[in-house]
Amino acid sequence: FPVDKIRNFSIIAHIDHGKSTLADRLLEMTGAIAKTDKNKQVLDKLQVERERGITVKAQTASLFYSHHGQQYLLNLIDTPGIQAQTVANFYLAFEAQLAIIPVINKIDLRNADPERVESQIEKVFDIPREECIRISAKLGTNVETVLKAVVDRIPPPLACPNDPFKALVFDSSFDHYRGVVTNVALFGGQVKKGDRIVSAHHSKTYEVNELGLLRPDEHPTQRLYAGQVGYIIAGMKDVKEAQIGDTLHLQDQPVEALPGFKPAKAMVFAGMYPMDQSEYPGLRSAIERLTLNDSSVTVQRDSSLALGAGWRLGFLGLLHMEVFNQRLEQEHNASVIVTAPTVPYKAILSSAKLIKEHGSEEITIVNPAQFPDRGVVSEYLEPVVLGTILTPDSYTGKIMSLCLSRRAVQKNMVYIDDQRVMMKYLFPLNEIVVDFYDQLKSLSSGYASFDYENAGYQTAELIKMDILLNGNPVEELATVVHRNRAYSTGKSMCERLKDTIPRQMFEIAYGGDITRKMKLLKKQAEGKKKMRLIGRSSLASKNSLSDLPAE
Ligand code: GDP
Ligand code: MG
Repeated sequence: FPVDKIRNFSIIAHIDHGKSTLADRLLEMTGAIAKTDKNKQVLDKLQVERERGITVKAQTASLFYSHHGQQYLLNLIDTPGIQAQTVANFYLAFEAQLAIIPVINKIDLRNADPERVESQIEKVFDIPREECIRISAKLGTNVETVLKAVVDRIPPPLACPNDPFKALVFDSSFDHYRGVVTNVALFGGQVKKGDRIVSAHHSKTYEVNELGLLRPDEHPTQRLYAGQVGYIIAGMKDVKEAQIGDTLHLQDQPVEALPGFKPAKAMVFAGMYPMDQSEYPGLRSAIERLTLNDSSVTVQRDSSLALGAGWRLGFLGLLHMEVFNQRLEQEHNASVIVTAPTVPYKAILSSAKLIKEHGSEEITIVNPAQFPDRGVVSEYLEPVVLGTILTPDSYTGKIMSLCLSRRAVQKNMVYIDDQRVMMKYLFPLNEIVVDFYDQLKSLSSGYASFDYENAGYQTAELIKMDILLNGNPVEELATVVHRNRAYSTGKSMCERLKDTIPRQMFEIAYGGDITRKMKLLKKQAEGKKKMRLIGRSSLASKNSLSDLPAE
């Protein structure tokens, strides 16, 4: 395929706005899949994707399409919605000077108002309304116009057929039988079965066993050419060998590595433990297999007194964490205990001794147990995000008080038409990781939408709050909180614990009859034993802990 007949594109939109449905129509219209009324989010293959109706794993599909009497190869990447950073993604695409085709979906809905949406697009994104395409992905209305626009408005990829083979790894997955399957975009040259290729990141050499197009199923071909998007299987045993953003080239034709892209950073951390320590090995292999296919999850071993050996995992966001958890249970039959989510805080050390020990003056705290002792820190920092809320104006009052209660600072508020308001707030990330989205949805009857992007760190007065049970601090209940929130957070945690954990014996200074003291001690020992169990089972019921306010 000549490069000038190739187009690469992806669909960026909020969760639920119809990306996967539009992808279905595009697949049908180009003959990639048969037209039936059973095509529902074909690219969403995972059980969790089908159940929740969200795309977890981005899928790629190469489509053949005739336009102007010519054959075109259109490479579609259905983006995962779990980051939900639609606005941020728009600006990324805009800054990269990518062509943007505004598509307004669901025009078949009775209350659809494309006129108004076009005005909003003009106002918020500065895109002329004439460029908007109104469609119904569900009914297929006007979807052909989208295909034509892809050909007419998107430039061909910058790929050089005469250069040496050069490919960007943009995704990878693990297949039990064939090893790592890399998804690649070719920027130069060509590659065929039997070629010896090198990953620039590891400088390891592999032999190409199989390659082909994704249509959307794997479609083996003889070769892949510059401008194409496809898959390569080359005997990699571990996805760590196929770093996303890595460059592949031929062994005897080294090239300069492509700039790659910034790996997404974990922003929400939680402890994960097996229900029972005997399940540790099984859970370990389940976590390993899942992270093979999702390199954005970070994994560190961790242990806790009550819960035993486990891990501290880092996720891109809350939904990402929930989905990971659900996949562990559904696809790997693992039952897990998840602790309340936390965010990565930072501390700037003031003690010269500690700075030397640590090798830098800044430490990252992803676990309350890492919280430094008093007196060695000059400043604490917490991650902040810039949140965008779109809402009918009748809910602005309620939303403003919700944001205020979450320590958010308003940055901007504009009417995007006569009824809808766009508000921007700077939120401490920890204030939105638990139940913010649910509250926003419920107080706006489901009408407000929320989107956020990372916005760095800000100074914060943080403290570690311990909860004592029978006079002993319980590490699993320790949380990092903002000083102003310590009292209310501590109070509500205690109230919940009071209901969860039955009354306990507590030690009292005692003088008097020794037999009575022995009796009491025996009772106390039983009580403690029971409490360990109870403490465990209360931690074990997943909701009880994540219901607790986050630190
Ligand atoms: P995604 O999260 O952006 O991938 O959205 P989906 O494609 O999964 O669609 C979300 C929901 O909206 C599904 O229930 C679809 O059936 C529905 N939907 C998608 N497109 C349309 C449309 O054009 N009209 C209507 N009425 N519903 C649609
Ligand atoms: Mg989807």
